[in-house]
Amino acid sequence: MSELILFNTLSRKKEPLSLLRPPHVGLYVCGPTVYGDAHLGHARPAITFDLLFRYLTHLGYKVRYVRNITDVGHLENDADEGEDKIAKKARLEELEPMEVVQQFTDNYHRNMRQLNVKSPSIEPRASGHIMEQQEMVRKIIKAGYAYQSNGSVYFDVAMYNEKYDYGRLSGRKLEDLLTQTRELDGQSEKRNPYDFALWKKAAPEHIMHWPSEWSEGFPGWHIECSAMSSRYLGEEFDIHGGGLDLLFPHHECEIAQSTIANGKPAVKHWMHNNMITINGQKMGKSLGNFITLDELFSGGHKELKQAYSPMTIRFFMLQAHYRSTLDFSNEALQAAEKGFDRMRNAMETMAKLSPAASSSLNYIDFEKSCYEAMNDDLNTPVLVARLFEGVKWINQMKEGKESLNENDLNKFKSLVQMFIFDILGLRFEEKPGQDDQLTPQLMDMILELRQEAKQKKDFSTSDKIRDTLTSLGIKIKDTKEGAEWEIGE
Ligand code: ZN
Repeated sequence: MSELILFNTLSRKKEPLSLLRPPHVGLYVCGPTVYGDAHLGHARPAITFDLLFRYLTHLGYKVRYVRNITDVGHLENDADEGEDKIAKKARLEELEPMEVVQQFTDNYHRNMRQLNVKSPSIEPRASGHIMEQQEMVRKIIKAGYAYQSNGSVYFDVAMYNEKYDYGRLSGRKLEDLLTQTRELDGQSEKRNPYDFALWKKAAPEHIMHWPSEWSEGFPGWHIECSAMSSRYLGEEFDIHGGGLDLLFPHHECEIAQSTIANGKPAVKHWMHNNMITINGQKMGKSLGNFITLDELFSGGHKELKQAYSPMTIRFFMLQAHYRSTLDFSNEALQAAEKGFDRMRNAMETMAKLSPAASSSLNYIDFEKSCYEAMNDDLNTPVLVARLFEGVKWINQMKEGKESLNENDLNKFKSLVQMFIFDILGLRFEEKPGQDDQLTPQLMDMILELRQEAKQKKDFSTSDKIRDTLTSLGIKIKDTKEGAEWEIGE
């Protein structure tokens, strides 16, 4: 069996996965900013690192997967001096900010369950780790790489760059950054425009803030991931993942912070998933092509010709390599839907196949090629192509053109199922209608039992049935012909 090779953004090449404490794997992935409904942009990193989590677990590694929640108190970048979005929604709707965070977090979790994304091992919230973040800021100040300005604390990038290489991960040069960084409001507190905030003094309208020796304020965005990853995975850990949009400045800043605070850059292996475009364009609120996952699943967006099931979306994403850009269009999604249907039908056919006396197909080669695809930097497009060869085999076996003996057929069936369900994390949803039929059948049975109780003058039972149904929102109306029911609002 070939060994697992992963592309490391830091070295810019594919490398065998080498672990600090095998068989343990420490995996940290930048999680969602719960500042709104989960959208398409959330789905790709979630699915990419879910695939990695599933595959490493399958290979026998003990994975501790930490994916954070960026919640209250964090501006999206240093330049954003406006009111925190959570704070604004909380103020307008008279909610506790944590209520807003909870709503968006619940929504994100619901969408992740729909996409069959497994829960991480630990899901820490930034707001629950203020002390760890402050402690890290203190270490950086003590080391002399941060300065205070008007109650805020900034990381001194120029000073860091004298000894270390700022831009090592993203391939940027400090000189270029100086010309690229625009002067924006609030940057006058900084020594240089590329310095980033470790702690920000809270403006009066900023609802979420914490006391500190520097000011009543809140931590910078970058420090949260450094603090939470070292809290749960140690000062050095194996894999850090996230979307390519986080490469700079977020991940570059994480390396700088950890290098100064802990004396090491923290991460051995950096992995980044590429971005999603919609009909060739970047997704953005201003472009009117910003699609939430709920809109995608219901078809409720003007860009969508129909609803797409969560599994169609998952399958569509896995058909592309995680390091390639992926363009969303109705045509591409419809093609994915068809392909996924073919796979579903083949699984049904496969269940009914019976073994032959001998094998005309080479099972061993098939198995090897599936693992080789995954071991080559999680090459899911190749794996999916292999699985479609398997689909071809299934159809040929059904027609009696090819065969597998009992041993090979059993291994083939479990291998195909294992790759489709356990590793790719696909599942075949119940065909529509099954659920719709079950409720009326159950209701008929319950109402019959109630009718029988009434006939036996067992009114306590018949009342109990009616009251329980009422509490479930089901209204019962007695008529001459029997009882009718209706699900209320
Ligand atoms: Zn992060």
